[in-house]
Amino acid sequence: MIDLLIRGALVYDGTGAPPQHADVAVAGGRIARVAPCIDAVDAVDAVDAVDAVDAVDAVARTVDADGLALMPGIIDSHTHFDAQITWDPTLRPSPALGVTTAVIGNCGFTIAPCRPADRELTMRNLTQVEGMSLDALRAGIDWGFESFADYMAQLRRRGCAINVAAYAGHSSVRTYVMGADAARRAASADEIARMQDIVRDAMRHGAVGFATSTSPAHNGEGGLPMPSRLADDAEMAALVGAMAEAGRGVYMLTKGGHTKVSFLESLAAATGRPVMIAALLHNGTNPRAVFDDLDAIAAANERGHRLLGQVSCCPLTMDFTLASPYPVEGLASWKPALGLSGDALKAKLAEPSFRDAVRAELATPATFRLFNNEWDKVHVVEVARPEHARLEQRSIAEIARAAGGDPLDAMLDLALDEDLQTVFTAQLLNSDEEAVGRMLNHPHSIVSLSDAGAHLTFFNDAGFGLHLLGHWARDRGAMTIEEAVRRLTSHPATVLGLRGRGAIRAGHAADLLLFDPRTVGRGPKRRVRDLPAGGARLTTDAVGVHGVWVNGRQVADAHGILPGVPLAGALLTDFDG
Ligand SMILES: [Zn+2]
Repeated sequence: MIDLLIRGALVYDGTGAPPQHADVAVAGGRIARVAPCIDAVDAVDAVDAVDAVDAVDAVARTVDADGLALMPGIIDSHTHFDAQITWDPTLRPSPALGVTTAVIGNCGFTIAPCRPADRELTMRNLTQVEGMSLDALRAGIDWGFESFADYMAQLRRRGCAINVAAYAGHSSVRTYVMGADAARRAASADEIARMQDIVRDAMRHGAVGFATSTSPAHNGEGGLPMPSRLADDAEMAALVGAMAEAGRGVYMLTKGGHTKVSFLESLAAATGRPVMIAALLHNGTNPRAVFDDLDAIAAANERGHRLLGQVSCCPLTMDFTLASPYPVEGLASWKPALGLSGDALKAKLAEPSFRDAVRAELATPATFRLFNNEWDKVHVVEVARPEHARLEQRSIAEIARAAGGDPLDAMLDLALDEDLQTVFTAQLLNSDEEAVGRMLNHPHSIVSLSDAGAHLTFFNDAGFGLHLLGHWARDRGAMTIEEAVRRLTSHPATVLGLRGRGAIRAGHAADLLLFDPRTVGRGPKRRVRDLPAGGARLTTDAVGVHGVWVNGRQVADAHGILPGVPLAGALLTDFDG
């Protein structure tokens, strides 16, 4: 019995090979057969192939895909759905955007293990570091677990619309062992040993690897660094070593400027495990920096060590208010304002000495910094007071020039005048398309960094895969469609060890995306209020998507996620080494 027969699509099989017209038959959640179409091959082969499907097996459903293209479902290797998955097993909006597998726990910002006493701290940290609404987290997270194993068991019990693989997260592991001290000091030898045990246990229960962050942009509750940032090199090496004892696993980290690629290479050399390095974003004010990292990564590969750089195909643009200004919160000079709210925050933002310190820091170039003093790239999106309406859509540089003042003053004064309600948008990084095109084609980069599930009011890049296909491959010709498909499917599947996924091949899981190559892309962002406790998020609609199947079951069509979407995804715990 064939459950599904997709006929006549131009099939991109995920390997990077040129596409071919073929019929794809699905049975029992797997690809049963890929047969050339009658119009694409000589008659004898075609009759054999198609008749084999039609005559021998009954077909439950046939989809006529003439004029459309079929590829393996997109694998999103950088998401933060760890909390959302406990209240929304659909993982909106990813399935509608062609994503059939999501990797959670990136940067080590997981919610397991977590003692009941640390739940509030964990939620407050996520609110600060990943821009998740505290009210939504409090109302939404189902805390039916304490250990990583319990968390995985809960995910398996509840199900999910798409496949999920989970990292063991450093900050959670550290908090579990050290409590509130995790964000304050180095660990003792005994504490490191206990952390190693937790990492080993997570690997036994199906973690895809170990994830961490050393990035100064990653601050938690009250402006304290996220716990993993307090780890010294010995702790990092011990935990990556504990992961590698499983004989498999990916070491993922979001790298601060002070973490050297050579140190990461030494961990790859010691363990034999791949190292996935985020977030390689192009900075127009320091355009060489990201290529220096990619060069160092390439050199490590030449020495036989597997390092990859996570790159993004989307310009990093963030909407924000001064009540929670993520783009500047990584600045050392912003520290005094972190953790403040209401009148205390307003008083700090008004202080001339605070402003002078921020100005001085922004005037010095940095290797990695979200905001780089480019005031022509910060715009007013929405004002709170009608008398300021004329400022909407104008850049801060322009507004400051017109007033004969300084841009930082102009932005802060406007925000203070509106009770910090003014919405700004900043085009931060990755907007130089020539440079980004080179990064996307780099032999040791991996197309990633959607951050889906996080920063929900700041930006939404969950549709990154559709953007790579439409904008980069079709419109800009930066790569062929088959190469774009490979980079979204078999490439991440191989790096992550996702067995039997990422290619259209008999025996592989039937994770499929049917799309129109002439129109595929991501729609404009829009704001919806569907989070627990009525919170808002940005979302994007798919363009040119005709169907998405996970393990052979359809989860989305041309109108988006199906009503009553089946929880067709698998919790992935069995990986190739
Ligand atoms: Zn992240």
